[in-house]
Amino acid sequence: MKYTFIIQLLWIILVYGHVQSQPVDKFEKARKSMVQDQINPRDITDKATLAAMGKVPRHLFVPSGYVSIAYKDGPVPIGYGQTISQPFIVAYMTQAIKPKPNYKVLEIGTGSGYQAAILAEIVDSVFSVEIIPELGDKAKKLLNKLDYDNVHIKIDDGYFGWKEHAPFDAIIVTAAATYIPPPLIEQLKTGGYMIIPVGHPFQVQKLVMVQKKEKKISTRTMLPVRFVPFTRSK
Ligand code: SAH
Repeated sequence: MKYTFIIQLLWIILVYGHVQSQPVDKFEKARKSMVQDQINPRDITDKATLAAMGKVPRHLFVPSGYVSIAYKDGPVPIGYGQTISQPFIVAYMTQAIKPKPNYKVLEIGTGSGYQAAILAEIVDSVFSVEIIPELGDKAKKLLNKLDYDNVHIKIDDGYFGWKEHAPFDAIIVTAAATYIPPPLIEQLKTGGYMIIPVGHPFQVQKLVMVQKKEKKISTRTMLPVRFVPFTRSK
């Protein structure tokens, strides 16, 4: 009787240990399908973007209760009323700024840190600003743990960009603003692209591509989207 119990206990420990050491492989398959089924067919052709989407462990960026839907075709809640964007939108915005290995990119809205990690796979350095301290700190810890030492996070109102590190080759804003913050245009290099959702909170917004030219700014409306609002510090 006693031995049966011990054997059962050992069995449980063995199975549990096995499950614990398995998740990477399990999610690799889900990640491959995500790229093949959701991203490839929707005109994402940039090789670096596709490779990054196939590499970054998205399930580690979502709260534990949402791991099972981490690779599904939709946004995932990350707490504090915020969400990590649908994988396709992350890929779309990444490809849109035409990222290159020597780029220094500014992101506004660190959130979970997932978009920052995708960029970090492709470009030289990422400067990311988050207004909610708890989210920014959590993302910082996770990105450190995953050895993304080319991502720099600051807790602040991203309306003002990150002046000390400007100008940036490209800018990605992941919260919907009612207008494009002028400091961000100022901190974009001439010739560089910024992608930003513009529109009113909780309505359909549009993803806008901004290109800074020598003497003017050109804008192009891309997709209808729904992002969490760009908030301001008091
Ligand atoms: N890029 C994130 C998605 C985050 S959702 C990811 O990959 O997970 C949008 C984020 O923008 C939220 O975390 C929100 O707190 C943040 N945000 C909203 N307004 C902001 C502002 N003015 N400055 C910086 N971050 C802001």
